[in-house]
Amino acid sequence: MSQPARDVALKDVAIKDVAIVGAGPIGLCLALELAALDLSVTLIDAAPYTALASPDDDGREIALTHASREQLAAAGIDIPARQMAPIREARLYNGASPRGMTLASARGEGRGREGQDSIGQLVANHVIRRAAFEAVQGVEHIQLVTGRRVSALGAGPGWRSVLLDDQAQIPARLVVAADGRLSATRRLAGLSAQIHDTGQRLLVRRMAHARPHREVTWSWFSGERGLALLPLAGDTASLVMTLPPHDAEWLKALSSEAFAAEATRLYQGSVGEMSCRGTLHDYPLSVSRAEHLVADRVALVGDAAVGLHPVTAHGFNVGLASVRRLVDALTHHDKAVEDVGAPAQLAVYARHHQRVILPLWHASRALVALYGDTRPPARIVRHLALGAARRAGPLQWLMEGYLAKSAARR
Ligand SMILES: Cc1cc2nc3c(=O)[nH]c(=O)nc-3n(C[C@H](O)[C@H](O)[C@H](O)COP(=O)(O)OP(=O)(O)OC[C@H]3O[C@@H](n4cnc5c(N)ncnc54)[C@H](O)[C@@H]3O)c2cc1C
Repeated sequence: MSQPARDVALKDVAIKDVAIVGAGPIGLCLALELAALDLSVTLIDAAPYTALASPDDDGREIALTHASREQLAAAGIDIPARQMAPIREARLYNGASPRGMTLASARGEGRGREGQDSIGQLVANHVIRRAAFEAVQGVEHIQLVTGRRVSALGAGPGWRSVLLDDQAQIPARLVVAADGRLSATRRLAGLSAQIHDTGQRLLVRRMAHARPHREVTWSWFSGERGLALLPLAGDTASLVMTLPPHDAEWLKALSSEAFAAEATRLYQGSVGEMSCRGTLHDYPLSVSRAEHLVADRVALVGDAAVGLHPVTAHGFNVGLASVRRLVDALTHHDKAVEDVGAPAQLAVYARHHQRVILPLWHASRALVALYGDTRPPARIVRHLALGAARRAGPLQWLMEGYLAKSAARR
């Protein structure tokens, strides 16, 4: 009979198939997909149980591709339709220039999936986290260890072990790091990463506005600033602002009314007058990429593998793709998993996922550098790039088609 996922007495833990460090949305989804293969999974997170069961609203709105939504549903993660807001079109502008580029459109340019009238859905990050956490409850093969950090990794013949900060050990045939872009597990496994602190800040806030957004996401790039508007239910939207620290501090010090007036001005009245609907969230903006995705019986997934710039709006989709690829690599042509975590399986995973994330990493870094450059030649290059992309569509291919397809690809 299935038991609810709960904290376990660590001394009772026998050798598991997989130990996953990080019960974020990616770790939870991976646990569900592995448990469906009858693999035993221990999921470890530093956060307390209550924080994982009822995650705080962190202001993030995640753009889910159709492939990601299908993957979550197949894993048993049920996100109510009323919690989703459709995206019908995505547009990108170079500063104040009225000539923008349509990155993706469900109707206009036929970039949405056939028969679908949206290119994706926006869902609040805490809604995904809550739904994923609820889904692991009652799954017999998943055990949860909360409120403990990983302090070391051990090794034996055909297994690794996770040593926790209370000295408990969890041995498993495979250890998966799903502990985010500053992954401690990655470091403990000796896997190096490029971590780039952009020095910028990301402010996000939900706003109400006077004019309809028509389910369009807008992004404007102008020198050091990047502004995005993500359409939510009714006449509300999430503002995502990439800013230098002094601008961020200045905006944070404003009253709600003054912030709304400044946001209306910054967004050039595109959706009319705005008023604040949520709290202001402030994130330091760093991006990261692991040089190698696997070590001896260790694999990296989600942001621990690559933490993309939010400008791509696809970090979570790429994380889900890493789950899909790892599960595929662990199963031999749909046969039962024989030795989970064997080097040959991990090599396949690393090769397939690296092939996808490398071009995304380089292209998104180049895009951010180009749009963050305030010098006049860069403005001209941006103008030309938008014009070229309008005609040839390489950016479109990068920003949505490739990602959506890669998320679904096996
Ligand atoms: C402002 C913002 C907006 C974003 N918008 C989008 C978007 O529109 N679309 C999109 O696709 N992506 C977006 N992203 C990216 C997306 O949020 C991430 O890709 C996603 O959260 C990664 O999930 P994860 O499970 O890999 O890591 P995380 O969500 O970071 O979860 C990691 C988990 O590991 C745990 N942990 C950490 N360290 C340890 C440790 N030492 N021991 C044990 N547990 C540990 C943490 O408690 C946490 O539960 C955005 C990110 C930000 C910051």
